[in-house]
Amino acid sequence: MSIPSSFIDQILDQSDIVDIIGRRIQLNKKGQNFWCLCPFHDDKKPSMAVNQDKQFFYCFVCNASGNSIHFLRRYENLDFVDAIETIASSVGLEVPYTKQPVEETKAKEINDEANTIYKNCLKSNDGSKAVKYLKSRGISGETAAFFNLGYAQEGWTSLYDKLSSKYSKQDIADSGLFSTKDQKTFDFFRERLMFPIRNIRGQCVAFGGRIIGDGEPKYLNSPETKTYSKSNELFGLYEARKLNKSLDSLIVVEGYMDVIALHQNGVKNAVASLGTAITGKHVSKLMRYAKNIYVAFDGDLAGRKAAWKAVENALPILREDVKISFIFLEEGHDPDSFINEKGKEAFLKLLDNNISFSKFFLSKIKEVDDLETIEGRSKAAKFAVPLINSINNETLKQAYIEEIGTICRLDFAALISSNIKNPRSAPIQDEPAVQQENNGSLLARKAIVGIFTAMIQYPELAKDKAFESIHNNEKFLFLLEVQNKYINNPEINASIVFEQIKSEQIKRLFGEALMSEIDLTQTNALSMLKDCLHSFVKNQKDREEILKEKYNMQHISSAERRELQQFILKKAELSEEDRDLLKNLSSKRD
Ligand SMILES: [Zn+2]
Repeated sequence: MSIPSSFIDQILDQSDIVDIIGRRIQLNKKGQNFWCLCPFHDDKKPSMAVNQDKQFFYCFVCNASGNSIHFLRRYENLDFVDAIETIASSVGLEVPYTKQPVEETKAKEINDEANTIYKNCLKSNDGSKAVKYLKSRGISGETAAFFNLGYAQEGWTSLYDKLSSKYSKQDIADSGLFSTKDQKTFDFFRERLMFPIRNIRGQCVAFGGRIIGDGEPKYLNSPETKTYSKSNELFGLYEARKLNKSLDSLIVVEGYMDVIALHQNGVKNAVASLGTAITGKHVSKLMRYAKNIYVAFDGDLAGRKAAWKAVENALPILREDVKISFIFLEEGHDPDSFINEKGKEAFLKLLDNNISFSKFFLSKIKEVDDLETIEGRSKAAKFAVPLINSINNETLKQAYIEEIGTICRLDFAALISSNIKNPRSAPIQDEPAVQQENNGSLLARKAIVGIFTAMIQYPELAKDKAFESIHNNEKFLFLLEVQNKYINNPEINASIVFEQIKSEQIKRLFGEALMSEIDLTQTNALSMLKDCLHSFVKNQKDREEILKEKYNMQHISSAERRELQQFILKKAELSEEDRDLLKNLSSKRD
């Protein structure tokens, strides 16, 4: 499945980057831009600018830049589709997925097909044991059908026999439905009640299986695959949204049977975290679809530990507009047993008596040590420092700083500012270091930024004759590409041009130009464009000549040799001299 590019343009058009970033980080307007502390590096003073007209952010220190999609992907560590989902839901739109003829992997297709096989099996004689089990737990046929429950029959290759002829070995291996031993392939799930795990698009990406009768383990989950990551999916989310697209609240529980029992009893907005700790990705996903999130835990020690883990993972992406709270069940109960024994009203009452995120968080700080002693209070404060530092939302951070200062009776703000930012607050992998390409000299970079700045402010300059000096020269192709976008559509939004630039380095230079605060008159823009083009072309020439000279003097390094090679290769036409040089350059091995 894929998302039409017209839809991506639409949500970028309808959403506002100032709103998207502003909900997560404190923004302050200064000049043409909004400014904030950059969450992607250890920022001391606001170095990230957000521009509303251009729908673009740029950090002047670490060069992080892009549109709302880029921001969310880095800030909440989301993949592309999840970032689109987040923005779409913030403007009340449903993502229109389209079928793509060629899927990268058939894992989802196999899982979907397995789901149908399991479902049919549950209805057949083979599934009678599982049906009996469901009945004993009070689950109706209607509920079982709603969640697409199934049964994996006995036998080592029941499923494999049905699917192996239709799919390649690789697809079978990628599906997570089979295991291999001594080069033989077996069904991963056997004699189990099957719970399909669907992604937000409704595709089956994995399964949970509960053993029927005795045996270990009681629950078995699909392994992580290319299309399934347990830190990202929530069982029941697709189903809850199927019933209600504008959910007010979501309840996170631990197990499949909790979700299903709650549904059976009329609480139809529960999701399960699939037996893993609640991750930042889970929280990000939950915040996208509901403004009230309840997380239910067992009241025992393990439950409190799990709740604390969820707190730690949620801190970096906390927002004022989403309320997270916890409910702790009395010992010996899980949501399944609780609602079956006490009913829906009692369960809803439990939700009303929730413990707010901040209350739970602060109570943990108070438990660190004896707050009646100076030692205890400083220990508690010390414990809180990295946690508070991981909060990116400045308003909430300030509120916590105040509160902890009062609890520990000290100047907590001073402790915070003397500590470096917790690296956890900047999730996601770093982008690959920008390589200094051939055109990497400072002068050339400045010239490129100048050319971009002029064009961004006056797109009609893209048609100016000044560009002729770089035509027919492949090494300026990246500039010509940007120029062409403006020629073809002078109205084009600069953030869309940014999106389409392939080279990371050029992208950054374009970002720098986008955020430029200089206001050019058209005349100035034109002369700036001319000067920069001239200086850039000259600079390029010089570099090539310097390299050639080095080569002739035999002072050239292997990196420079490759650079010179590329200079020549990028030329549209090669002279006799170029050809000879190229031959000589390539005959040398590093
Ligand atoms: Zn930065």
